[in-house]
Amino acid sequence: MMSTADQGRDPIAPITVDLARLPELLTALRLPTIARLWAQLAERSDREGWPAARFLATLLELELAERYQRRIQRHLQEAELPVGKSLTTFDFASVPTVNMSQINALAAGGSWLDKGANILAFGPPGVGKSHLSAALGRALVEKGYRVLYTRTTDLVQRLQAARRDLLLESLMDKLDKYDLLILDDISYVRKDQAETSVLFELISARYERRSLFITANKPFGQWDEIFPDKAMTVAAIDRLVHHAVILEINTESYRRKTAVSRAPGSLSASKTKKSTQDDSDE
Ligand code: ADP
Ligand code: MG
Repeated sequence: MMSTADQGRDPIAPITVDLARLPELLTALRLPTIARLWAQLAERSDREGWPAARFLATLLELELAERYQRRIQRHLQEAELPVGKSLTTFDFASVPTVNMSQINALAAGGSWLDKGANILAFGPPGVGKSHLSAALGRALVEKGYRVLYTRTTDLVQRLQAARRDLLLESLMDKLDKYDLLILDDISYVRKDQAETSVLFELISARYERRSLFITANKPFGQWDEIFPDKAMTVAAIDRLVHHAVILEINTESYRRKTAVSRAPGSLSASKTKKSTQDDSDE
């Protein structure tokens, strides 16, 4: 399948082939997997009498597979997910209102991310909202999606700073590359922190395009403490719920439950009650 220009002349003629230069060539072309494996594979190929095309295709497939893995590793780091929170370590039995097969379907990605649908998880502290959001985020990164996990207060501060520095648009563009943005603990955002309208702008910008996973320990009725005014609160909720899966997790705090089962009998009823203080979920 030579082009007309190639016909009639030997493409090898103008170059010098020096096998000693191979590592250098592979580095120049950024092919680290081939650089690592070619010698071993060449030996096998010689021994087993592979056609040259098979040798070449095998090396290229290996490079591509590792490139994909490296990209996922990079995206995992960039996602800033809390460590150790995965779907396999999530105990679905202790949260009856959360359906495992529904979560597994969401973890496969696909249409809900394509149309920018959202997930909203509500519940008191300690019931697994952060764990579930991070676990879903991790599963999606492993599927090849891009995810960013952030505490909502941190992101609001970043957005406010960007607005002050006239860099809001460029930060919005950066956030736009994420298929899923996990905003943990939206109820900790307080409108008296000034300019929480940036959060509304983010929600509007992603509406029907890019997904959000929002966790909250306050119901919608108390969200007017987050946004500057009632109209903006209503408009934000309206956009968020238009295409959304809503998870209500109203079980007992997993933290408290496991603390009690680790030390049976050591927590009196009054102590258990007091420990809600510790569940302020830092
Ligand atoms: P929330 O965000 O709702 O306050 P977290 O996700 O932070 O709760 O959960 C509190 C702790 O309990 C975390 O260490 C989390 O990993 C663990 N946890 C909560 N729910 C579960 C669950 N269903 N299975 C396994 N671990 C859980
Ligand atoms: Mg949490």
